Amino acid sequence: MYDLPDLNRFVEVRPGLYRCTIIWPVAPGVAVPVSTFLVKGDVPHDWVLIDSGAPMQVETLLKAIDQVLTHEQDSIRFICITHAHIDHTGAAPALLEKYPGSKAVIHEDEKPFICDGKSFRSCTSDTWTFTLLKHFSHESNVKLPQDRTLTLRDGDKWEFEHVLKLIETQGHTPGSVSFLHIPSRSLMVGDAIMNIAAYPMLSKIPCISGPMAMSTCHWGNAMKAIEKITTLKEEVDTVFPAHDYNSDGIHIQKVHEFHFRPRAFEKTC
Ligand SMILES: [Zn+2]
Repeated sequence: MYDLPDLNRFVEVRPGLYRCTIIWPVAPGVAVPVSTFLVKGDVPHDWVLIDSGAPMQVETLLKAIDQVLTHEQDSIRFICITHAHIDHTGAAPALLEKYPGSKAVIHEDEKPFICDGKSFRSCTSDTWTFTLLKHFSHESNVKLPQDRTLTLRDGDKWEFEHVLKLIETQGHTPGSVSFLHIPSRSLMVGDAIMNIAAYPMLSKIPCISGPMAMSTCHWGNAMKAIEKITTLKEEVDTVFPAHDYNSDGIHIQKVHEFHFRPRAFEKTC
């Protein structure tokens, strides 16, 4: 039914960067692809996962990870989370348990939502869409222990800084971030940019858009985040959204074109 090469398994999309996409049935008749990424560390057997899927995808994701981490010394050291929504945090508790030395990495401003149980519904927004529809969004019940969580801000030093760099792209949520895979010039943006046609959601057509308005806390900042991504052309070739029907992500030039002429993209998909 879905012809993505990385459906339910990790495929190396760039040297040292693997993507696995699992279809998430959000509601009856509505399904969206959710991608997670495995990154090879610069120390043998060290791995990092970026995002961890929806709760109902945990088993499939753990199986897919096991197919890549086949050496007995292979281990996930960090689970980098772009933001604390339910479809990005699902397997984090299971992975922290499976890899006792691992930690979740999140932005400082996202910590209350993933460690303290704060609801995104408490966010004040600049749009009526979020204010009216936030009560219909899926709430996450994932709660991570403080001592297994590492918080970072733009430019903070950490163990994997030669491989992965956190870039603040807030707006979709108060602490939503992107992760730059430095060796392959790839940027994992979470939901800051999406690449699926909104209507109908089952059309399986790649189509660049901003994040989903009903779950975006601050639209103005979300647009600034897209603008910020377009300024990273010196460091980035490919943008990989978490929701993407294209197997090879989006070239940064396309993001640039979308930023300046979003209406043109609405008409093509
Ligand atoms: Zn999402």
